[in-house]
Amino acid sequence: MNIHEYQGKEVLRQYGVNVPRGKVAFTADEAVSAAKELGSSVTVVKAQIHAGGRGKAGGVKIAKSLEDVASYAKELLGKVLVTHQTGPEGKEVKRLLIEEGCDIKKEYYIGVVVDRGTGRVVVMGSEEGGMDIEEVAANTPEKIVKVVVDPAVGLTTFQARQLAYDIKIPGELVNKAIKFMLALYSAFVDKDCSIAEINPLVVTGSGDVMALDAKLNFDSNALFRHKDILELRDLDEEDEKEIQASKFDLSYIALDGNIGCMVNGAGLAMATMDIIKYFGGSPANFLDVGGGATKEKVTEAFKIILSDANVKGIFVNIFGGIMKCDIIAEGVVAAARELGLDKPLVVRLEGTNVKLGKEILNGSGLNIVAADSMSDGAQKIVSLVK
Ligand code: ADP
Ligand code: MG
Repeated sequence: MNIHEYQGKEVLRQYGVNVPRGKVAFTADEAVSAAKELGSSVTVVKAQIHAGGRGKAGGVKIAKSLEDVASYAKELLGKVLVTHQTGPEGKEVKRLLIEEGCDIKKEYYIGVVVDRGTGRVVVMGSEEGGMDIEEVAANTPEKIVKVVVDPAVGLTTFQARQLAYDIKIPGELVNKAIKFMLALYSAFVDKDCSIAEINPLVVTGSGDVMALDAKLNFDSNALFRHKDILELRDLDEEDEKEIQASKFDLSYIALDGNIGCMVNGAGLAMATMDIIKYFGGSPANFLDVGGGATKEKVTEAFKIILSDANVKGIFVNIFGGIMKCDIIAEGVVAAARELGLDKPLVVRLEGTNVKLGKEILNGSGLNIVAADSMSDGAQKIVSLVK
């Protein structure tokens, strides 16, 4: 789960990570009163969306007066910001962070991630932080340094010191940088983060080390023990269909193709997307209805697929093991009746209660194309949506 920058900074502040003073604003009036309260000579107006790259897309404005704050706030609120992380459709700005301007001397990068390769938490740093970190990673990867953390010991002072030296933090500020990294690491572990990225980490004219940006991602499987974090969830930033799916405990991920897929088992769901691609089509979603799905759950899954305006046809690919084919058939029929299905539907059923399942589908009066195998089904749906 993702949260906004201002929320991330609040979480980090609780752990002693140095961040600028700031306040969230939902309207231009709130932005102005927040700026008044901060009382700094320079105020930064920052669009809050769940995506980075805002600076380059015009989502971070430096205001020198309250009038500036008001006009930037009006400009940004309601604007659809397109950054290299939002995709071409962009994201609408509904919140702003009003923050005190910071006298930046140099920008660095610090990121904490769970590294699958080593199976450990890795802390990365670079002397070339800021808005071009992707280019640094691509062109001069040697400028990114890493330390691997032993989970039994945690990030040690000497590792943090090493990192601070490697990214060339000025000698007199190394101790502040160490304190910063240790605090960031405890926040990461304590809150079950999967990513904590500070880009930029800055050294200021007055000799402070602070986080000017904060991107925190949390392991969804651990959210049950972080009610405070769960409260920070912003449904506006999530796909409507994915929210609906999570209510019914369905593993659904929206994609940009036009063939809706209803499958049981994550492996089969992946293979189904592959085979659709193989035959020249494009999947509209990943969906694993799971093992013990009820008719209601299947109905809901089918509705979610159909609510996607891009879907031109649906491929139901079920290998009934724990999941029974008749339950799938009943769910498909119920949803199709309720919504008045007017799109091609290809069904491949195999496994437990397959005969019963096929009878239900055949007797439904729906226009269903039966497939003999996965590859047959994929070819049929690809040609039907063309
Ligand atoms: P993004 O990563 O989405 O582009 P950032 O929060 O990193 O957004 O902001 C982009 C740039 O704007 C930063 O690299 C920094 O140069 C500048 N900036 C951000 N916040 C402040 C601030 N409080 N004071 C001064 N400059 C800032
Ligand atoms: Mg940034």
